[in-house]
Amino acid sequence: MSAGGRRTQPVLNPATGATLGQLPHATTADLDRALDAAAEAFPKWRAVPAFERGRIMKRAADIMRERAEQIARLATLEMGKPLGEARLEVQRSADIFEWYGEEARRTYGRVLAPRAAGQRFLVTKEPVGPVAAFGPWNFPTGNPGRKLGAAIAAGCPVIMKPAEEAPCAALEIARCLLDAGVAKGVCSIVFGVPAEVSSHLLATKVIRKMSFTGSTRVGKQLAELAARNMIRTTMELGGHAPVLVFDDVDLEHVLDLSATAKFRNAGQVCVSPTRFYVHESLYARFVEGFAARAKGIQVGDGMDESNRMGPLAHAGRVPFLEPLIDDARQRGAKVHAGGVRRAGPGNFFEPTVMSEVPCESRIMNEEPFGPVAMVNPFRTTEDAIAQANRLPYGLAAYAFTASSKVANRVAAEIESGMVGINSFLISVPESPFGGVKDSGHGSEEGIEGLEACLVTKFVTEA
Ligand code: NAD
Repeated sequence: MSAGGRRTQPVLNPATGATLGQLPHATTADLDRALDAAAEAFPKWRAVPAFERGRIMKRAADIMRERAEQIARLATLEMGKPLGEARLEVQRSADIFEWYGEEARRTYGRVLAPRAAGQRFLVTKEPVGPVAAFGPWNFPTGNPGRKLGAAIAAGCPVIMKPAEEAPCAALEIARCLLDAGVAKGVCSIVFGVPAEVSSHLLATKVIRKMSFTGSTRVGKQLAELAARNMIRTTMELGGHAPVLVFDDVDLEHVLDLSATAKFRNAGQVCVSPTRFYVHESLYARFVEGFAARAKGIQVGDGMDESNRMGPLAHAGRVPFLEPLIDDARQRGAKVHAGGVRRAGPGNFFEPTVMSEVPCESRIMNEEPFGPVAMVNPFRTTEDAIAQANRLPYGLAAYAFTASSKVANRVAAEIESGMVGINSFLISVPESPFGGVKDSGHGSEEGIEGLEACLVTKFVTEA
């Protein structure tokens, strides 16, 4: 791709360190062109009937399924996840487009009872306006699927800045939309220095909604910028998900599920199970079983289908994890598996299981966002729930128990946007995905995700 004199940055394969290509950064003039295009496209796109928008979204979903293998390979090359996971992610993005496309036609208003004869009271829903979306690198196709899907189905043009680390997969998702019939100004993709791009886009009056997925730290900065122009926000931020394992479970089954969920995407998932609180009667067996499973995971290049866990997505992640683990070790934590990077090329980190991790260690308070599980014991349900709620995060939480009484209590008392009981499945296109507290606000997917791109208007007629 020619950069036309623009600044560029290399895109690296995290499994080998090899340079895959040079990514051009948008200039200020490019960003302004995207803003002008979005402003011009908005009246035209909102006027397209929801049925037709839905048809285009479904066509885009079909195109994505046809191209799934090619898109998945790009995602694995750029980001490192195993090819099988990348394939599932593309299929899921197609499902999201399809679901939003169908749901757009159910953008209902309501008619209120009049206060006097001859009056009409109407509540209508309208697209909010051009959306700015900022995505991370951990789901290079799933995240653009969510952000582009909601806005475009609702009738809003969108300017998205996906992660610079995994640009081609996101571009391919956008290409499916364009090839399905979405006009160019409705979907623009830009790259650059993240803070420069977001501060430029959010400083204009064109953008009416912003959607961000990433760290709590950056989320707070963007919320401040958005507030200056009263831009509506959806914030999917960090998490530090607790898992409560009670004494009445099938331990081997819970261990199998836990190891699969923990090491998926090398733990680089905002809802990744991270703090395991296990009833003291099962604790020793749980630690042993978890460590054995972690040691059995074949780590390597995601393009090799025999590997179950790939590298960390960018070079900064390994030196981020190491001091967190060292700090816990120095405070008395025991490392039963992994805990170290793998020698040689690529950003590989061994699947790690720690136990007896003191509450005050950094890793029990800061999101590790990597293949690390911390396991600590608990005695009473009160204690387990208190530990789960201890952090300012509240994105996902999980509990395993055969008791419906305990399950109901945990589901009610845990401070979290999503709760999985006896399951790590907490997200499908029709369910709302989002957190509370420092994990953000608003939801993506589900009817809530579409609603977030709509504004409400009350109309009276006499
Ligand atoms: P980071 O916060 O610098 O970047 C995370 C993502 O946000 C990147 O894709 C980046 O392009 C984007 N970003 C950063 N600053 C931005 C800005 N000012 N404007 C717009 N976008 C911006 O951190 P990182 O080292 O790349 O990732 C590590 C942390 O990010 C993790 O510890 C985790 O908390 C968080 N993260 C969360 C998710 C999630 O799904 N919620 C995904 C990826 C990363």
